[in-house]
Amino acid sequence: ERFCRLAARSIQHDGKLVGYRGTASDVTEETKAQARVQYLSQHDPLTGLPNRSRLRDYLEQNLASLRSGSTMTLLYIDLDRFKPVNDTLGHAAGDEVLMGVASRLRERTRDGDLVARLGGDEFVVALHRMSEDEDIDRLCNRIIEALSSPFAYENHQISIGASIGVALAPMDATQANELLRCADIALYQAKDAGRGTWRAYGRDMDQRLHERLRREEQLRVAIAEQHLEVHYQPRYLSQGMRIIGAEALVRWHHPTHGLLLPEQFIPLAEETGLIIPLGRWVLQQACQQAATWPVDMVVSVNLSPLQLHDDRLLDEISQALHENGLAGERLELEITESALLQETQSTLDLLKRIKALGVHLAVDDFGTGYSSLTSLRHYPFDVIKIDNSFVAGIEQSMEDHSIVRALIELGRGLQMRVTAEGVETEEQLRLLTDDGCTEVQGFHMSLPMPAEELRRLLAGAG
Ligand code: C2E
Ligand code: MG
Ligand code: MG
Repeated sequence: ERFCRLAARSIQHDGKLVGYRGTASDVTEETKAQARVQYLSQHDPLTGLPNRSRLRDYLEQNLASLRSGSTMTLLYIDLDRFKPVNDTLGHAAGDEVLMGVASRLRERTRDGDLVARLGGDEFVVALHRMSEDEDIDRLCNRIIEALSSPFAYENHQISIGASIGVALAPMDATQANELLRCADIALYQAKDAGRGTWRAYGRDMDQRLHERLRREEQLRVAIAEQHLEVHYQPRYLSQGMRIIGAEALVRWHHPTHGLLLPEQFIPLAEETGLIIPLGRWVLQQACQQAATWPVDMVVSVNLSPLQLHDDRLLDEISQALHENGLAGERLELEITESALLQETQSTLDLLKRIKALGVHLAVDDFGTGYSSLTSLRHYPFDVIKIDNSFVAGIEQSMEDHSIVRALIELGRGLQMRVTAEGVETEEQLRLLTDDGCTEVQGFHMSLPMPAEELRRLLAGAG
């Protein structure tokens, strides 16, 4: 099949038409190229699926011609745990998974349904049937199950998962953008419910989303206007119970809810990226206050995994030290063990550079994150902090006690100091000291306290 373009003009002779003269050009290539451009503008090059722009056209056409009584169902699918695949195994692995997801989605839908990729790890399926809840439930569960079985890549078995938000036309919305927005809100709820599940859009979701946006805004203001405060919890040497450091723990003076603890706002800060300015502020405060302590002891600051991916972190640390005239040795940064799971070479390099400033590094909440023991050997850590949950169990549970003992042994073997957190009783303190745990922190010795109170405590002790 070829395409031609004709250009011709009539030939007249004595006023009579006797024929035509002109050219015919073969424009097959040009036509194909145009079709290709048209195709590319409407499809995702990696998976070959329709893209966002094709999806929008499709929705607009179909929603406009939706007959009375018929419905359209939109599934907004987001992959769980996809980012670590890209980060740890590389983009080729990520691409492989995305192509696998595309083909599994196609297999589980019918010809008339549209499967689109919106970009990143977001997919949409539009279906012309199923307004019954059970049908939707069955399909969503089938999709989640399909996407949760491992993908093979080279020698790896990659496991991801999926969350789905569902919206229905015309019940939830009749416009393409509006319908997508409803499904997105529902998706948000599915993720909030612990991922690996689906949620349908409901009007009250708008309300909840609204509430969340409001909390995000309040936190933004709190950071900017310094409604945050850093409390400090002393850390003791178990021999002689001398204070050898203090951990900075952030609090939020909320205008209506009073004093909030980190668990009530750190997750929100991490989801919204506000943890970056928040973490920067805590670091700066901690260095500034430590510089005024009457004794030269270490201040520990918690770092969120997200901060480890922020290029400015190293500069901010050295600046905070420099501006406050604090020696690097007096700062310790705590990184949770679970953050190490997603470790890459670049983070390892960053940790080494931080260490080169003299700063100490601690693994926080150790024992909860399943980091491999061999990898722990490669990280430049000085301190292991044993998680509260193990310490809480040592009096009653033989198992917890053996774990704690093993962790103390491990620290000794790797020549790291070991701090037990969450020490609440005299008996726990005695057991830990007998087991050779060198440092302790917990309510039994001291609660977290405002900076001023700590300064008085230190002045009294000194
Ligand atoms: P963490 O780093 O493991 O901090 C220790 C937590 O255990 C603190 O809770 C502390 O108050 C609590 N704790 C201390 N002694 C005891 C005890 O004897 N018994 C019990 N049950 N708990 C004890 P807090 O202040 O609520 O902080 C919770 C978590 O929030 C911290 O855990 C840390 O992961 C995070 N966090 C706190 N401040 C910051 C911050 O500035 N930045 C970041 N990224 N995370 C922070
Ligand atoms: Mg900590
Ligand atoms: Mg901890």
